[in-house]
Amino acid sequence: MMQRKRTGDLRLIQELNRSIILDTIRKNGPISRSEIAKIIFVSPTTVTSAVAELINEGLVYEDGVGNSNGGRKPVLLRFNPSAHSIIGVSITNSYIKIADMNLEGKIIRKEVHPTNQYQGYDIIQLILDKVELFLSNKLDIVNCQGISIITPGIVDAEKGVITYNSKLNLYDIPLKQLMEEKTNLPTFVDNDANAYVLAENYFGLFSKFNDLIYITIGDGVGSGLMVNGSIYRGYRGSSGEIGHTSVVPGGIRCECGNKGCLENYVNWPAIYSKIVSAIMTKGRDTNIKDMVSNDLNKIKPNIFVQAVNKGDELALEILEDVVHNLAIAITNTMHFFNPEVIILSGDIIQDNPLFLKSLNEQVTQKVITVLKKEVNIHSTSLGSEFQLLGAAAVLLHWKFKFQIN
Ligand SMILES: [Zn+2]
Repeated sequence: MMQRKRTGDLRLIQELNRSIILDTIRKNGPISRSEIAKIIFVSPTTVTSAVAELINEGLVYEDGVGNSNGGRKPVLLRFNPSAHSIIGVSITNSYIKIADMNLEGKIIRKEVHPTNQYQGYDIIQLILDKVELFLSNKLDIVNCQGISIITPGIVDAEKGVITYNSKLNLYDIPLKQLMEEKTNLPTFVDNDANAYVLAENYFGLFSKFNDLIYITIGDGVGSGLMVNGSIYRGYRGSSGEIGHTSVVPGGIRCECGNKGCLENYVNWPAIYSKIVSAIMTKGRDTNIKDMVSNDLNKIKPNIFVQAVNKGDELALEILEDVVHNLAIAITNTMHFFNPEVIILSGDIIQDNPLFLKSLNEQVTQKVITVLKKEVNIHSTSLGSEFQLLGAAAVLLHWKFKFQIN
């Protein structure tokens, strides 16, 4: 028994070394074997045997020679992101995105399917079928590292189970197991906001931060917490439920059963109903009406943002209200976690500099003195494909164990 355990430990150490070596080449390439050994404090023999494996698998290739300090010129190594692929899947309330990507999150092929308001097992069946169909058109399945699925709600990432997603009516769905049975590919499942924190770190502008909070505002409001370079998941994976923090005592009843949750004051349905009720019941005059030619169904987040940028009075009032409630929740979060940076994403934040300016100001007013200079709220740096980049980051995190920073 003892002997077997030791062998197991040794294999584990070899795998960990391999991951660290691959990650070092990814970040520092072109780089020589001896430089790698110096950077990560392992023996040159360990580097040489791990690199041989990585070259064999196509993950690393030799590319030219470096300068020598006398002896033979060292051969340089580079990461090869295109030798392997990732199938990324992003689930939202309204659509499913599926993409074939390389190991740098570059999209090779993409499909978007409406969810048709499916819920429960119907939506799961739809996802399984669409992914299977997508894979049937993929030629190089041998080099596919797996499927990475991200979704709002509470996810047990270790087991690949969607524990709770009230909007899609999903409870304890073993999605990893179902997808692996269907496709025979290793599958990873994680919460979307956790995925976006990882993606900001791997692909975005925030790679040098160790403590950051990512808040996503859409139909729901969620957040991902990176604490000391790791995703903070909490005991049952439900950390970061910032949408259900109380901001208005005795306020609007929330689907969670509580009253006055942040989500119901800052999500798009809340903003939309405020605009419509101001126009319909209060007879408010606003540019928004003209922008949609009086068809209120056409009011979308980008229309609201355009109205804000034009200085429309109603849009600015509603924005002020959203910022006020969000500032309360962010102030509480800052006092708990003391992040270096807070990153926001969502349609109402996109191209909305006034939102960020006003939010930064209000949070600065509210936080304790020692944090006043530390308020650092930005919009996401991931661009329009943030969901698929999030999915890619989850696979890189679990399978390749790429390190943060
Ligand atoms: Zn709630």
